[in-house]
Amino acid sequence: MTRGTARVAEVVVEGTALFLDKRFDYVIPPGVDVSPGARVVVPMRESVRSGIVWAVREDVDTRGLRALARVIDRVPVLTPHQMRMAEWLCDRYAATLPEAVSAVLPGAFRVRVRKVVVPNSEGRVPNDVKDAPLFAFVADRAPEWSEIRARSRADERTVRIWLEAGFVREEIRVDEAVGEKRRAYLVACAEADVLRLEAERRRRRARRQAEILLRLAAEREVPWDRRAYPPASVTPLVEAGLVGAVERRAKRESAPPEVGDWPELTPYQTSAVRALAEMARGGHGVALLHGVTGSGKTEVYMHLIRAAVDEGGQALVLVPEIALTPQLVQRFERRFGDQIAVLHSGLSLGERREEWTRVLEGEASVVIGARSAVFAPMHKLRLVVIDEEHEPSYKQEDAPHYDAREVAMWRAREAGALVVLGSATPSLASMFRVERGEARLVSLPVRANRRPLPPVDVIDMRDELRGGNRSIFSRRLAAELERTVSEGMQAILFLNRRGFAHAALCRACGHSMECPRCDIHLTVHRRADGHVLLCHYCGHEEPLVRRCPACGEDALVPYGLGTEQVEQHLLRTWPEMRVLRMDLDTTRRKGALESIIDRFQRGDADVLVGTQMIAKGLDFPRVRLVGVVAADAMLTLPDYRANERAFQLLTQVAGRAGRADTDGITLIQTYQPGHRAIEAAKSHDYRMFYERERESREFFRYPPFCELAVFLASHSEERLARGAAARFERELARSPSAASLTVLPAGPSGIRRIDNVYRYQVVMKYAAWQDVKEDVVRAYRLVKEKMNRLGGSAVLDVNAQRI
Ligand code: ADP
Repeated sequence: MTRGTARVAEVVVEGTALFLDKRFDYVIPPGVDVSPGARVVVPMRESVRSGIVWAVREDVDTRGLRALARVIDRVPVLTPHQMRMAEWLCDRYAATLPEAVSAVLPGAFRVRVRKVVVPNSEGRVPNDVKDAPLFAFVADRAPEWSEIRARSRADERTVRIWLEAGFVREEIRVDEAVGEKRRAYLVACAEADVLRLEAERRRRRARRQAEILLRLAAEREVPWDRRAYPPASVTPLVEAGLVGAVERRAKRESAPPEVGDWPELTPYQTSAVRALAEMARGGHGVALLHGVTGSGKTEVYMHLIRAAVDEGGQALVLVPEIALTPQLVQRFERRFGDQIAVLHSGLSLGERREEWTRVLEGEASVVIGARSAVFAPMHKLRLVVIDEEHEPSYKQEDAPHYDAREVAMWRAREAGALVVLGSATPSLASMFRVERGEARLVSLPVRANRRPLPPVDVIDMRDELRGGNRSIFSRRLAAELERTVSEGMQAILFLNRRGFAHAALCRACGHSMECPRCDIHLTVHRRADGHVLLCHYCGHEEPLVRRCPACGEDALVPYGLGTEQVEQHLLRTWPEMRVLRMDLDTTRRKGALESIIDRFQRGDADVLVGTQMIAKGLDFPRVRLVGVVAADAMLTLPDYRANERAFQLLTQVAGRAGRADTDGITLIQTYQPGHRAIEAAKSHDYRMFYERERESREFFRYPPFCELAVFLASHSEERLARGAAARFERELARSPSAASLTVLPAGPSGIRRIDNVYRYQVVMKYAAWQDVKEDVVRAYRLVKEKMNRLGGSAVLDVNAQRI
């Protein structure tokens, strides 16, 4: 404890507990230099934690305050702008500050700090200390306090006595888990002529040295590959003052952009670029670029980006999932070369920090990444592109539950930048923005190849059955497949269900096999040695047997199609067909997805079978036929957005056909040919779909006519989860905001139990979060605190996209 006045740091301390959701004051010891955004170690109760300095105050009464234990960074890891973003996340999504910081800079707190006990300098214990074994433990392991405590209370007391007697001392250890990737370089320290001359002199005696000198004469600087240039060869050159060896942050090696790779824009693209560029000159604005599939939206983005970069600005491009869009990233890399930073979850923390630093230092002016790239530290943001803006993956499903589209708009407003939302199937929310005058609509109504959109034919599977065809392929789809392959073209078959079969069903009694730990049926998957039942939620796996556990009959069979079965049917019917499958199961391995895309693009396969992964912006010029094997699988989802999602998926999948210089065709197989989403996809009529869907959302009062928030309580004891949801509901009912809130009755969430944890929810509807925020958050924290004490959890998803 210190007295008097001093400089004080307000610190956000790492951790998930609710009590950490504030700033803690710590005295900055005299002579210590620390600025906001830097990481520090602070004492907290008995132990130490890492934190981030949020602000510094002068001349503060320091009574009762403890001092910072250590400063980790001299250069702050967070910029002031990012700190404001974190604060905004707290306000908008009811996040705690540490949660918000972890979202803005993943790994921000990723240092391990601990308080350990080590022997004092002599490390000697006087003879009268009787606890030799305990001392030995301390002497060789530098144990943490928690470890000593885990041994016993008596041990802890002993160590405290030693501390006071000076036999041992406490030490704070900080293990930096985030290593920047550093790399050694050899640099030339003399003129090229001198180096060449020296090389000539050494050519016979020291061939390696000569090689290094020649290379440096030409390139001035090369990465130091120690196998090619062993230290034995380098050291004499360094000693002679010809060469220097330095270590620094690795530069990204990438090919320079290929000039002349810019195709001439079509008239529609030209006027879109013109309209958007004009908006960009006017500062902040939001535009919705509605371009049909294959209309060349990407080309429009790239022109806008080039303009922003040419003017000294930075651009941010968000894509739904970076792993699914290797083609798009390659296109950008070809155009912009090493001006690009790619941020994705596959990066190690070190690599991420490195890309982050390139952005921060302005070395990279174009950032591409998924959701979390929206927090990239750009100082000169001019343009934000959100590609496939209708994709649900822009919303983070875990705390802090942010929506990257909203964050992007907030950032762009702060920075005076333009936001371009791009899609062939704009979300209702974005089109509604246009309707309210909050965004401007720019359209690309035709394809870049000037060909019509592929005709979409709907096949009524009821007729097939009546006609005696029991195959999963209608006669029409079978014939088109054969024709496509025989003409040397390619086909894509889409089914939104992975696995072999949707479920295992008893033909005798109707029993369906359920997961023992979750309230969900098991999916059938094929293995080399037979079928298994797998839970997609908890991973439970068991063999599929014939005998039904409910009635004892040998009548359990796979039921409902999955992608594995489609693949098997293809190979059975046309053994010579070359088939690739792209779903979660075939793309888990690193690089597997890229390899599938690559092989299909090269023409190594005739047919690609896949789930929604294949609907996200892939561009295969040789695809003539797209077949939707069973549209019904996505028409029945229990979600208010099921129709919207189905229409988007169908349109996007259909859009994979006929993208280059051939015509394409799309066939949709279904038992519900009259369904609104299918009819609209068939006629490529976004407008019709929008109008109808908008009408029903307005009637039933769903977004965009209100906003939703979902409170979810989870506990391994059902009554506690149910009780928490009921309590939350009661708190809301008696809050002053009750009149502004429509609260749906508390009840089990979509899947009541996952991995033996019960889940109960409360759904709220309201017009504006600001009006109800205070009361909702108060009720939430109250219940959450109690739930945490009881060993459960509670989360609040503001602006929820799913209920
Ligand atoms: P979208 O993103 O709208 O689906 P893309 O940007 O992927 O469309 O463009 C579809 C195809 O058309 C791509 O193969 C692209 O290279 C090509 N393309 C786009 N614009 C042009 C253009 N102006 N001239 C020639 N080809 C173009």
